[in-house]
Amino acid sequence: MGNWRIFGETIAPGEKRQTVLRVPVGGLANAGEVSPGGRRGDGYEMPVILINGARPGRTLLVTAGMHAGEFNGTPAAIRVARALEPSEMSGRAIFMPCVNTSGFWTMHPRMLPEDGYNLNAGYPGRPDGTVGERVADFFVREILPQADFILDLHGGSRGERMTPLAFFPTNPGAREASLKAAKALNLGCLVESQATKGQYSYAASALGIPGLLVERGEGYICDAELVEANRRDILLLLAHLGIIPETPGLRDEALKRRVFKEAVYVDSEWDGLWYPAVGKDQPIQKGQLLGTLQDLYGDSIGEVRARCDGHVLYVYTGLAAPRGEFLIAYGVADSEEK
Ligand SMILES: [Zn+2]
Repeated sequence: MGNWRIFGETIAPGEKRQTVLRVPVGGLANAGEVSPGGRRGDGYEMPVILINGARPGRTLLVTAGMHAGEFNGTPAAIRVARALEPSEMSGRAIFMPCVNTSGFWTMHPRMLPEDGYNLNAGYPGRPDGTVGERVADFFVREILPQADFILDLHGGSRGERMTPLAFFPTNPGAREASLKAAKALNLGCLVESQATKGQYSYAASALGIPGLLVERGEGYICDAELVEANRRDILLLLAHLGIIPETPGLRDEALKRRVFKEAVYVDSEWDGLWYPAVGKDQPIQKGQLLGTLQDLYGDSIGEVRARCDGHVLYVYTGLAAPRGEFLIAYGVADSEEK
């Protein structure tokens, strides 16, 4: 495999390099930094580890921390990137263990604090836009075209209890390869997604690059077991793509996988206190009570019932639910597959 020219660097075959990506943001204040107070130049900073295998093969992009408070992907990406031996690899890997560095260091749970931008909903961005729009645009122009497959690691937002799952894209050009890869991982819930504005979903819908968004975690907590599960899934995916040899014993052969045709998302229609009546990872039936909303005196404001049979994917368990706040998501029309 030849030299790899990427982000202004030249990486020789068999070489691993860690560096800092700087997205030009035109001097906009408070943009991200790899270390707080450690800015070395203009631009929104993101850490990246580039690994050029000794032999040719495919390129995997692993991103974590798009939503800054979804932590479990970050240590997993760091550990795998450090452990990989480029001399044993056929292909390349780009690890971005913390994309939303400004949100990370300011302890923002989700969006870019500079502009409230959602990196999982705002693609393709704009080169002359806000900080978030420029970060998205940088991904579209500089990063995504390098990848043959994208793994974007999320971890349940603040107040969310989350069934570990993978979203895979619905568009025909990327669906099959994405679903096949999802089945190589240790995730029991695989959900077809209609989204097209997130990082991996834009890559799939606009560029035809297969990929997965994996959710493991909940509620602004870093969980060692879930970090380890992510670490194993990154290794399983690298092996599935032929970039590293298979590691015996990593895959849970007994795991039953459910594939859902779509997910139903319910947002609050009222300002209320949300009391969920069901938990994550449980089957539900059409008409079943999913939760109630009450006012601050305990009077009922409304209730949420299942529109159809399904399976609870994640539940908001924060109490405050102003109008428009996410309450619950459930997968529907599942089939059981090995
Ligand atoms: Zn997320």
